[in-house]
Amino acid sequence: MKLPLAALLLAMSSHAAVSTGNPFSGDPPDATHPWAIHDRNRPQPPRVEPGTFSTPAQPGQPPADAIVLFDGTEASLAKWEADTKPGDPAAPTKWIVRDGALECVPKSGQIRTKEQFGDCQLHIEWAAPAQVQGNSQGRGNSGVFLMGLAEVQVLDNYNNPTYADGFAGALYGINPPLANALRPPGEFQVYDIVFRRPVYREGKLIDPGYITVFCNGVLVQDHTPLEGPGGHLKRSAHRPFPAAGPLKLQDHGNPVRFRNIWYRPLPPRAIEGGTDGALTAEATTAKRASIAAELRSDATKLPRDSVAQMLRLAESLVYERDPSVAQRVDTLAASYLATLKATPVAELEKKRGEAETVLRAFQYLAKFDLVAKGHPAIAGLERIGQAQGWNQKKK
Ligand code: MG
Repeated sequence: MKLPLAALLLAMSSHAAVSTGNPFSGDPPDATHPWAIHDRNRPQPPRVEPGTFSTPAQPGQPPADAIVLFDGTEASLAKWEADTKPGDPAAPTKWIVRDGALECVPKSGQIRTKEQFGDCQLHIEWAAPAQVQGNSQGRGNSGVFLMGLAEVQVLDNYNNPTYADGFAGALYGINPPLANALRPPGEFQVYDIVFRRPVYREGKLIDPGYITVFCNGVLVQDHTPLEGPGGHLKRSAHRPFPAAGPLKLQDHGNPVRFRNIWYRPLPPRAIEGGTDGALTAEATTAKRASIAAELRSDATKLPRDSVAQMLRLAESLVYERDPSVAQRVDTLAASYLATLKATPVAELEKKRGEAETVLRAFQYLAKFDLVAKGHPAIAGLERIGQAQGWNQKKK
């Protein structure tokens, strides 16, 4: 039973030659979900060739689509520059590459990437000096500034208490880390960060932005809302961020080392026009209309007046009601039913799979009030099925 139906659906589909779900089966789209449950029209996730994990001794490989900001080579230092004041000319950084790591030269100033970006998944590894010097904020201090603004603290807190909102893995001045998962000084620590900038619309904050941080695989920031960029001693407040900014690393006077720095830009959130996540009714309607338009255009490429064309048009009604399309589906259904009625009984058996698929499609549409409950195709196909004994006989 399952196989012939799947084969039929496949034959009627002009989609890729693999089944990505059956139409007229899962709960349909609603006011805030443009797709049905298990919707075959929902885009496949893009393939990303994964990298490898780092060990304390060796940095891992970034995933294939990562934008690498530092790979341990002298050449990748060219992706960085000194963090000169706005308006001042660009200048090369005085930080150095030593043993495959980018090392802060104390008192040489902060550095920044030439590349500017916003929402991202950022991977960065750092090591505080093996030789322990200083305490509290004075020991192995640096910082990872997303967009040059929000600091994820870098600090040797292995055996070194400090104020909690200034701890390694803190969103500095705003939120302490959930745990201290640091390795001893001298060993590389791994930060995996998910960063979302604040979003304003017409001057109003509609999303504060968020930061999620794993330190050595341990969750230390759990979708923590931003409160502006954060800061030293002063209570930070929400404010707009630019569209993009550089990644900055702090010179806090300690020769902290970095390696394996890469990021992946993130797709827009629903409130910025993305179509995954919590959608507004407006965005859902727009997406549903575009899916319906695609299906209707697809239908024009199928054989004229065919069952496949009727079903594709019917499928589009699941996303968007349209009286003229509904009428066309009714006309095609009526002529399909007439063809079946004129088919000799012996021949009808060959049409069983197709007829049952059409019946299921109309039953689905009627169940969700997309066609009339008493649609003539339903009663007509049920009658043919009863006469053929399809309900009793297993295929
Ligand atoms: Mg710092």
